Amino acid sequence: MKKLNPFWLTDSRQVLVPGQSVFFAIRGDHHDGHQFIGDLYAQGVRQFVVDRPVADADQYVDAQFIVVDNVLAFMQQEAAKHRQQFSIPVVGITGSNGKTIVKEWLAQLLGGGSPQPDFVVVRSPKSYNSQVGVPLSVRQLTAAATIGVFEAGISRPHEMAALEAIIQPTIGILTNIGTAHDEGFKTLRQKVAEKLRLFTRVQTLVYCLDNEVVANEVAIMLRAVNPAAHYIGWSAEGHAEAAFWTTLRGDQLTLTRRADSREWTIQTPFTDAASVENLTHALLTLLSLKDVAVDDLNQRVARLRPVQMRLELKQGINRCVLIDDSYNNDVAGLRLALDFQKQQSSCLPKTVILSDVLQSGQDEADLYAFIGTLLAEQGVSQVIGIGPVISRNARFFGQGARFYPDTDAFLAQFSTDSLQERVVLIKGARAFSFERIVNRLQEKVHGTVLHIDLDALTHNLNYYREKVGSQTRLMVMVKAFAYGSGSAEVARLLQFHRIDYLAVAYADEGVFLRQQGITLPIMVMNPAPETFQTLIDNNLEPEIYSMALLREWMGKGEERREGGTEEQETKSTSSSFPPFSLSSAPPSRPFLHLKIDTGMHRLGFLPEEIPAVVDYLKQHPNWRVATVFSHLVGADEARFNDFSRQQAEVFGQAVAVLEAGLGYRPVRHLLNSAGIVRFPEYTLDMVRVGIGLYGVESSQLEASRVRTVGTLSTTISQIKTVKAGETVGYSRSGELDHDARIATLAIGYADGFDRRLGKGMGQVWVNGVLCPTVGNVCMDMTMIDVTGASAAEGDRVEIFGPNLPVTTLAQQMNTIPYEVLTGISERVKRVFYSAG
Ligand SMILES: *Cc1c(COP(=O)(O)O)cnc(C)c1O
Repeated sequence: MKKLNPFWLTDSRQVLVPGQSVFFAIRGDHHDGHQFIGDLYAQGVRQFVVDRPVADADQYVDAQFIVVDNVLAFMQQEAAKHRQQFSIPVVGITGSNGKTIVKEWLAQLLGGGSPQPDFVVVRSPKSYNSQVGVPLSVRQLTAAATIGVFEAGISRPHEMAALEAIIQPTIGILTNIGTAHDEGFKTLRQKVAEKLRLFTRVQTLVYCLDNEVVANEVAIMLRAVNPAAHYIGWSAEGHAEAAFWTTLRGDQLTLTRRADSREWTIQTPFTDAASVENLTHALLTLLSLKDVAVDDLNQRVARLRPVQMRLELKQGINRCVLIDDSYNNDVAGLRLALDFQKQQSSCLPKTVILSDVLQSGQDEADLYAFIGTLLAEQGVSQVIGIGPVISRNARFFGQGARFYPDTDAFLAQFSTDSLQERVVLIKGARAFSFERIVNRLQEKVHGTVLHIDLDALTHNLNYYREKVGSQTRLMVMVKAFAYGSGSAEVARLLQFHRIDYLAVAYADEGVFLRQQGITLPIMVMNPAPETFQTLIDNNLEPEIYSMALLREWMGKGEERREGGTEEQETKSTSSSFPPFSLSSAPPSRPFLHLKIDTGMHRLGFLPEEIPAVVDYLKQHPNWRVATVFSHLVGADEARFNDFSRQQAEVFGQAVAVLEAGLGYRPVRHLLNSAGIVRFPEYTLDMVRVGIGLYGVESSQLEASRVRTVGTLSTTISQIKTVKAGETVGYSRSGELDHDARIATLAIGYADGFDRRLGKGMGQVWVNGVLCPTVGNVCMDMTMIDVTGASAAEGDRVEIFGPNLPVTTLAQQMNTIPYEVLTGISERVKRVFYSAG
């Protein structure tokens, strides 16, 4: 067999260096990698590992197909072979919580940040700890590495053996074990026992003795199979057999080695129980690898940073989009960030501002040659290098690249006019203080900000995807500025995740998405005839809800077809009407979406009008009904279940008449977010997800399964003490019955903080305490009573978000979350972020 290419891919969206990549076509429950071979080939990938011969293989000139029995197992075996080439220490981390944090902190303690690192660390990217993620992580080991740090996660019995064979850890860390039986295990003991299988061959194990089940399983099971290992059990509760005792006083964490009573006292930046536990695991692992004096240890801990590393998307000057990743700069992180940039820059040109790349241990010329190639392959058209090392390797970055010795020089010399409408990745090691560059390039954010968590959006998308199954198409509603979240960014993310359809209310909204580089099919639900030309020019597809509209739209199409020459005709079909990919509607264009009124009595054909629709369509056989749909009026409430079923019934009958008349089956869809949860039996061919994607599960049956997406916050402009008997705000409506500390917030009804929330009807979250409004809400400001909270001027307060659900706010306003979300004014800054 030919050698495998060095870049391993399992996700067709993450192609970075196509010519040197191998794609593993893995089959999962909802996913089959074989589907993406054509797509990857088009992107330049030429090597594929598959589990059956590819039917149309001759269409892939120069592609190489390696056929194996089981692609995942093959990839795992190859990773295990790769691992065997290295006789360096390898740390394997497992547990229920804290794996990623312990891994990141250990990597930082081992080398990160110091000018002369003791170790060259290769570690799992992000939380790559699954059956697929672990082989990809281990594959990153190179000859330059002096230690590997990898995490392993399992969700079912018998999974750990495969991960052990790949990681082959010499040092083990067992992090916190949760008590919930959430992971497919019958008992806690079984879960612990399975996790311990990662450690059957380690030479050292670091674990906490204070969990009784863990202590017992290690003592009984693991010691029996691995008696020679060095067991470093630690205890914060004075366990008699601990190798280390720990105590925390204030922010002083003391580790005491029982054998010789040696002590290390460390000032810890994190004092919450979980962080201290994670830190202890990382510190004891470091001490098992190297004798570190207490001062040195303190310096390393002081350099630790919380593991959040979220790539923040920010609005830049000159209509640029900034990706702020000014925390660290190693090659793995750079690749992730470039990936994210690719995702975000459908049509905008790309700039990368990059510092010296630290912690690599690789030959300098090789490293920068590699990075230069990577940036070129990513289509980065403007490279700005900052730092002495990257500057002396300028030759690898092409003609147009610019270099500066340090951040000061860049800020002094660089003209920001050259950045116009670009996606700018700002990626620098901490020492370069790239936050100053971000600050310079960022459009200034005023008090009120809506943060949008793109990872939560993805999570929610996957939740609905999983519910409806892979055979069902997904349409996502991005009307009303994606429910207030920002339609361009949300649509870009959805396009990246390959949903099937977007829907907007009005033509303008669709045009905006096209201008932002969105190429997904888009349905327009309320298309006025005056906008038909706009629809055609922008590839937008109308919802047709009346005979009059049907005639107008088809008339428009005919006019266009007759008016064009042969050449224009071809062009018009390919540009105005994208190939329709839904399986049951053959790609005969142009087409439309029929809306049936089954009880909402808003827009739509009544069922009795369907025969007339059929007659009309039969006279125009060129036209295809792409989809037919209706909308439930009360899917979110059980008391309307009977009516919902009746609507489904009516819809079914109307569709039957339509299909019989047309002689083919359009794609059918009925359910919105709540309907998906409540009526799986009506999933049909496609579903339309709206509010659930944005974090509100409105049936309330599975509310805990979706994650909060938006957080609206603002700042305190001023705090003052006001005496009892005084009043606050307009119309003297906020009379005080106590001496109060009153804070003025930089948010008012013009931002979407509804006037109904005034006079104590609404509350906001201030440093852990809910504080009521006082007096009337003003246009741009609101006063709250912070007497019971610890609050200072400049503090950020949460209007809604993880600490104060938007549903609560909606109740206080006597409305529904839809109105709260879509009511946030466009003047409020949207900031998008992702862990990358
Ligand atoms: C807005 C809308 C949806 C989405 O509803 P959610 O309750 O937000 O999931 C679905 N279908 C139609 C026709 C809509 O207008």
